[in-house]
Amino acid sequence: MTPSELLDGILHGGPAQQRRAMAKAITLLESTRADHRAQADALLTELLPHTGKAFRLGISGVPGVGKSTFIETLGLYLIGLGHRVAVLAIDPSSTVSGGSILGDKTRMEHLSVNPQAYIRPSPSSGTLGGVAEKTREAMLVCEAAAYDVVIVETVGVGQSETAVNGMTDMFVLLQLPNAGDDLQAIKKGVMELADLVVINKADIDRNAATRAEAQITSSLRLLGMHGNPDHATHGALWQPRVLQISALLGQGVEAFWQAVGQFRDLQTANGRLAARREKQSLAWMWERIDAGLKQAFRQHPQVQALLPQMLEAVGQGRLPASAAARSLLAAQSQPPVPP
Ligand code: GDP
Repeated sequence: MTPSELLDGILHGGPAQQRRAMAKAITLLESTRADHRAQADALLTELLPHTGKAFRLGISGVPGVGKSTFIETLGLYLIGLGHRVAVLAIDPSSTVSGGSILGDKTRMEHLSVNPQAYIRPSPSSGTLGGVAEKTREAMLVCEAAAYDVVIVETVGVGQSETAVNGMTDMFVLLQLPNAGDDLQAIKKGVMELADLVVINKADIDRNAATRAEAQITSSLRLLGMHGNPDHATHGALWQPRVLQISALLGQGVEAFWQAVGQFRDLQTANGRLAARREKQSLAWMWERIDAGLKQAFRQHPQVQALLPQMLEAVGQGRLPASAAARSLLAAQSQPPVPP
């Protein structure tokens, strides 16, 4: 497909053609080839005016908490309401080992075959920053294809949750009903990112779920005093909440979606939603500039020539790290020697 066919397929294609164009576009933007990257940038620029209308929902939680089950139940419920649902993932294990925590089982059996759903697994390699960038761009492709709810899923390691929080409108943390689980999330700084905490598997033990709800509610209050600037304990700002659900039995999903609606309305009215997206775009730009500079630095011939001896000298304690860094940066600013 030519770039203009891709664009046309994403924006105006019939169901099958649109799916094909989306998959091709996302493959293009996951490619590391420089010419593909240039095509992907051109395509994204053309798509951009057609993006931004979806609600972007981030979902995280430890393996086994019920993320797939919940996303499947929620996705089918939303399709029943007339929405089109895209599900993307950031799998931090793929960036470390090439393995997968999120992707290797048959997930979301019914949602994945529904014509109103589009599911794409995590990009399978690269740094977390690179994987996050590609997921973010895939999100724009889905929005341009008129998916109006985009769910980005990740699994509990602090950094990937920060990445998902940095690309979504609302961040939801799934928790198990056993007490103590929330302490982990607090320690990792993930709880303070949460706009909504959902206690799943409430069907197994209602009492435990209710105790967890009370505990997490009070943890969130404490965090709210000096936590996320997107939240506040006063005025017309969102107060993070806790809900109980059973993803397996489909209980609490309607109440969940109501809470999402309330969040969206409030954050739209008080300007926080627009401010959050603006901040995210700028942070994304700087993050990519940092990554690009670092890559250019590492690829610079003078830097490559000097780097091994500098690493050794700093490693052996013969040269201060700061002095080595300055020499390397100076080497990078020299023009390359002509061949
Ligand atoms: P993920 O690793 O977070 O994606 O978790 P899964 O969605 O794969 O769920 C892990 C296990 O928990 C599966 O066996 C599910 O059937 C089960 N499960 C998920 N949600 C619920 C729930 O609400 N209640 C009960 N009893 N089991 C659940």
